[in-house]
Amino acid sequence: MIQEQLKKVLEEIPSYVTLVAVSKTKPVSSILEAYAAGQRHFGENKVQEMVDKAAQLPADIQWHLIGHLQTNKVKYIAPFVALIHSVDSLKLFLEINKQAVKNNRIIPVLIQFHIAQEETKFGFSIEEARIMLESEEVKSCSNIRIDGVMGMASFTENEQQIRTEFRTLKSYFNELKSTVFNHQEHFTICSMGMSGDYKLACEEGSTMIRVGSSIFGLR
Ligand SMILES: *Cc1c(COP(=O)(O)O)cnc(C)c1O
Repeated sequence: MIQEQLKKVLEEIPSYVTLVAVSKTKPVSSILEAYAAGQRHFGENKVQEMVDKAAQLPADIQWHLIGHLQTNKVKYIAPFVALIHSVDSLKLFLEINKQAVKNNRIIPVLIQFHIAQEETKFGFSIEEARIMLESEEVKSCSNIRIDGVMGMASFTENEQQIRTEFRTLKSYFNELKSTVFNHQEHFTICSMGMSGDYKLACEEGSTMIRVGSSIFGLR
C-alpha cells in the first residue's frame, strides 16, 4: 500500500522535484517499506523521534527536519541531519552553525518564510530575511549552507489563495537567488507542497515537496 501510494505521488510530480516522505508518527516498518521502493529522503518534525528512527534504519537515508526546531535540541541532530527546512530565527541559525562546527561538517538549511494567513505558522517575512542574511554575523558563519527557502500555505480550500502564497514564496526564492546569493549553485531548493497541495506547489515552481499522509495514510 505504501509503495503504491509512493509510486502514485512520484508519477504526479516532475522528475526534478525531490520528494521528502514525511514519516512523523509512523513506525520504522513503514519507513522500511518506502525505503525498499527506493525512497531515501524522509522528513520528521520531532528531534527525539528522528534520532530514535535514524539509529534503527539504514545509514544512507537522508533525514530532513521539517518542523519548528528548538535551539537546545540542535545538538542531537547535528551529527547526521541532511537538511533543516525550518530555520525561523537568527538564534537558531547561529546555533546550527555552532553545532556544525563542533561536528566538523557543513549543515545545509532552508530559510522558512511565513506565507500563510494563519498566525500560528513560523517563519520570516522577506524584510526580516533580507536584514538577517545580509548581516555580518550570518555571513561569517562557516559551517552552515543556505540551500533555499521553505514555506507552508494556509490550510484552506481556496485554491487561488494557496497558489498566491506559493507564488509569493517562489518570488522570494528568485529574489534571494539573484541578490544575496548571487546565483550560487547550491541555492536551488524551494520546499513547498504537502499532501493536500503538492500538485499546486509543483505548478508554482516547487523543487521539493514534503508529503506524509498521501503516502503513509492518515495520522
Ligand atoms: C506534517 C508536515 C508535512 C506533511 O503533511 P501531510 O499533510 O501529511 O502531507 C509537511 N510539512 C511539514 C512542515 C509538516 O509538519
